[in-house]
Amino acid sequence: MTQTYADFHRRSLTERDSFWAEQAKRIDWQTPPQQVCDASRPPFARWFVGGTTNLCHNAVDRHAATRPEDQALIWVSTEVGQEKIYSFAQLQAEVEAMAAILLAQGVGQGDRVLIYMPMVPEAAFAMLACARIGAIHSVVFGGFASVSLASRIDDAAPKLIVSTDAGSRAGKRIAYKPLLDEAIALSAHKPTGVLMVDRGLVPFERVVGRDLDYATLRRQHDSARVPCAWLESNTPSYTLYTSGTTGTPKGVQRDVGGYAVALATSMDWIFGGKAGETYFSTSDIGWVVGHSYIVYGPLIAGMATLMFEGTPVQPDAAVLWSLVEKYRVTVMFSAPTAVRVLKKHDAALLKRHDLSSLRALFLAGEPLDEPTGRWIAEGLGVPIIDNYWQTETGWPLLTVAHHIAGVEAVPTRFGSPGVPMYGYDVKLLDETSGVELSEPNQKGVLVIEHPLPPGALQTVWGDDARFVNTYWKSVPGRNVYSTFDWGLRDAQGYTFILGRTDDVINVAGHRLGTREIEECISGHPAVAEVAVVGVADQLKGQVALAFAVPRETPASPEAALALEGQIMKRVDEQLGAVARPSRVLFVGILPKTRSGKLLRRALQAVAEGRDPGDLTTLDDPGALLQVKTLLHK
Ligand code: ATP
Ligand code: MG
Repeated sequence: MTQTYADFHRRSLTERDSFWAEQAKRIDWQTPPQQVCDASRPPFARWFVGGTTNLCHNAVDRHAATRPEDQALIWVSTEVGQEKIYSFAQLQAEVEAMAAILLAQGVGQGDRVLIYMPMVPEAAFAMLACARIGAIHSVVFGGFASVSLASRIDDAAPKLIVSTDAGSRAGKRIAYKPLLDEAIALSAHKPTGVLMVDRGLVPFERVVGRDLDYATLRRQHDSARVPCAWLESNTPSYTLYTSGTTGTPKGVQRDVGGYAVALATSMDWIFGGKAGETYFSTSDIGWVVGHSYIVYGPLIAGMATLMFEGTPVQPDAAVLWSLVEKYRVTVMFSAPTAVRVLKKHDAALLKRHDLSSLRALFLAGEPLDEPTGRWIAEGLGVPIIDNYWQTETGWPLLTVAHHIAGVEAVPTRFGSPGVPMYGYDVKLLDETSGVELSEPNQKGVLVIEHPLPPGALQTVWGDDARFVNTYWKSVPGRNVYSTFDWGLRDAQGYTFILGRTDDVINVAGHRLGTREIEECISGHPAVAEVAVVGVADQLKGQVALAFAVPRETPASPEAALALEGQIMKRVDEQLGAVARPSRVLFVGILPKTRSGKLLRRALQAVAEGRDPGDLTTLDDPGALLQVKTLLHK
């Protein structure tokens, strides 16, 4: 007998405890939980209270015990031209050696270990080793400059930092060690040790008495056995900073048991990944997708995870698909920003490799505009599953779950990530009155009722007040978690994300999501990418301003003007004249964070002649310079 997804979702909320008690069986517990959910102290929630478990045990040991020879970690670097494959048994040995090194350096349960690493296997070993001994890891995206790194060192106060000589991006070596040394000099907190994984890419100086050589210690602890520490489910497992798209990053803190259960469930129901298969996420361990769906999720599910150091266009724009073919990838995860990069290349490259193993491509991190979604769907011939979530939630909040036995699959719909996932009590509220919007197609802020499901953040690291005040007090009169995203729900129940609440603009009394205008403009065949911001206007309050990356640079100023006219006409026809941007400026690149998210905040500030504020997460400073020059022409 099949039930509708809506009924299933409802049951996940009304029968919350029995629902999650059932899912908790997906992981191994040393001591079973005594209480499924303690929601008695809102907005805090504690999941699987009294149960003891371990993330590393569930990701590595339990598979190594039954399928030691199966592939666990596949590492491919097109940057250094290397590939390595670790079986579950080999992965366990590496993690145990790393854990022994950490213990020998005095790292104990609850101590923080900051990991500042590129996409190398040792980064995953370090994360899993921390999980194994109950140390709290805090991965900082490798490639962040000293100032961003220093603020995170001060916030996390790590006992030890694990790092390396260099990363590499598009063939260019990026020395990490000088950045790290400078960050430690800048920070008030000083780690007692720095464990250096020497890749032999860039020579570096060692600080005597502080810097440790991983290769030497690895040999000393070669066959070390380090048992998993059994941790109460609500023990913190890691902290991770948000992307910083809207302001200062927040240190999201996660638990052990709830996270393991949430990931195990999502790997099955949302991703449909099976033990023995290969999962490939193109993200980075510095982001939440890397935590949930490069390291922990696939391994907990007993899958091999493909860890890729490289760009999607080198040696050519088919490299991702060549990996899918070579490693028989069944489930893939990427971001719209990566697809837009590919879109600038020949679509025939999508068909060059045998993709018969691939069942679906999941995309998250930014709105997936319909033209981009269609382009990749047609090119690959597999379902494209948009999924919406945040560093804070740890796993998808809106998507379509196609693998729940006995439950009807909700069809995908371009432009919408889908419907609320089980466990999330999602609502749309009027952001000023706090009233729930129950009619279709009303625009409001997307919120979640207490308690957040397993896997979501426990608090902001070291700052419960910031957790409560930032997330739970933004809608008047309602104690709900705000996503700070703006959305609407159509008559069929699909939720559309219209942009960040910061990005809503008010043109002559009309509230418009910049996302809606972007979606319309990106549908123009000559446009590869676009960002729309609202800028202050004396007459109308705000007007929209568009920055577009053309697929081909207009041949002359006249051609640019003509294209601008066409784009404006398109907006007029589809959304109405209120939404028409005052100008469309053509740029080569858009300012993005290191995780590929548009920094509209910075664009808007520059357009209004203000200081763009904290730009430590900006990927390419040239992008903003270009915008400044254009605006002042
Ligand atoms: P900060 O909170 O520090 O400003 P951030 O919100 O960019 O940074 P993340 O947690 O990495 O940090 O990003 C989550 C946000 O990304 C969501 O709140 C939403 O705005 C956007 N997002 C993620 N997935 C999607 C999606 N599928 N569709 C639309 N937007 C998405
Ligand atoms: Mg955010």
